[in-house]
Amino acid sequence: LLYCDHSASTPPHPDVIRTITEVMEQVYANPSSIHQAGGQAEQLIRRAREVVARALNVHASEVIFTSGATESNNLAVFGTARAHAIDGKPRHMIVSEVEHASVYECYKQLGREGMDITYIPVDKNGCVQPEQIEAAIRPHTIMVSVMHVNNETGSLQPLAEIGSVLSRYPKVSFHVDGVQGLGKVPVDIRQWGIDLYSLSGHKIGGPKGSGILIRRREVPLKPLLYGGKQEHGFRPGTENVPGIVGLAKAIRLAAEGQPSNYEKLVSLRERALKQLRTLKPLVNNSPDIPLAAPHIINISFPGMKSEVVVHALEERGIIVSTQSACSSKMHKPSRVLLAMTQDTSRASSGIRISLDASCSERDIARLTEAFTEVTEQLRPLMKR
Ligand code: PLP
Repeated sequence: LLYCDHSASTPPHPDVIRTITEVMEQVYANPSSIHQAGGQAEQLIRRAREVVARALNVHASEVIFTSGATESNNLAVFGTARAHAIDGKPRHMIVSEVEHASVYECYKQLGREGMDITYIPVDKNGCVQPEQIEAAIRPHTIMVSVMHVNNETGSLQPLAEIGSVLSRYPKVSFHVDGVQGLGKVPVDIRQWGIDLYSLSGHKIGGPKGSGILIRRREVPLKPLLYGGKQEHGFRPGTENVPGIVGLAKAIRLAAEGQPSNYEKLVSLRERALKQLRTLKPLVNNSPDIPLAAPHIINISFPGMKSEVVVHALEERGIIVSTQSACSSKMHKPSRVLLAMTQDTSRASSGIRISLDASCSERDIARLTEAFTEVTEQLRPLMKR
């Protein structure tokens, strides 16, 4: 099997599996308990928080462990709206049209609840223009959400430029869904002025059901859950100690590996695209480097249904996906590709190949050979 669906989920790193197993076997007391075993669990969480803080160059008190990026994004969006709702004044929020469902659907829901929301379109590369963000800001704007790397196309958003615009509006929080960026492209939370930053464990060789929200100190935020005082009160509930320790390890490995991963992935991407570009009728939906992260390639074969291509590849042992895993079962044109291209046929035929630095040149040769066979097999059927 050749797995090229790393943006949907990644195989856990062997060190992560080992660490999680050890913690599950040995450190099972409740971290809030006052006995020594509880203290040992608490210490593991404290150390994991420091590891994350060091890897991301933030302060340990800014790390909130969650159950994954969906929760982190919900906490960022609804938690910010709630923090500002106290005096009952109307507020305004800004979001890009290409966010992952775990951000986009939060805004849709806030809109239904009466929040004033501006959706920012993207250009043909899938990128937001910082000037459009600035033009949308109003006196009562409380937050801007723009993701780092798009999970369907790999489009890279100009976060440093958006951060620089937002530095002139200190009351506007800057929220970034960083899930697809960490370990693949550089990120600088402080330098770019990011106030709220979400990550997911299972996209970087960590465990599923683990994530973080970085909340810069003093950024207004209210919790979504109420209960104990865990995670500085922002995320009550007994901590997932093995998950937290495994996640911290995965974050450290991803951050350390980023520069070499980038070089390797750029070369694999170029190699794959060189071959794929010879196939007809191919349309490349991902922008070129440096406007895209190197691990995601999104292509369409207009006239060939993406599900048919994906299943034909699977019969040859190649795993790729249509759209993102969360929306692929809806059988609707991709919202992201529609926002980029306004072309329903292209948006209905997108295929996502998502690589990992563990892929080899031989894997790319196998992948492109399978694409060649499948498109040759399907092309006559198109003409009928
Ligand atoms: N944000 C992006 C960009 C994603 O690709 C995903 C993955 O599905 C998520 C958020 C959600 O992450 P999780 O599966 O940890 O809830």
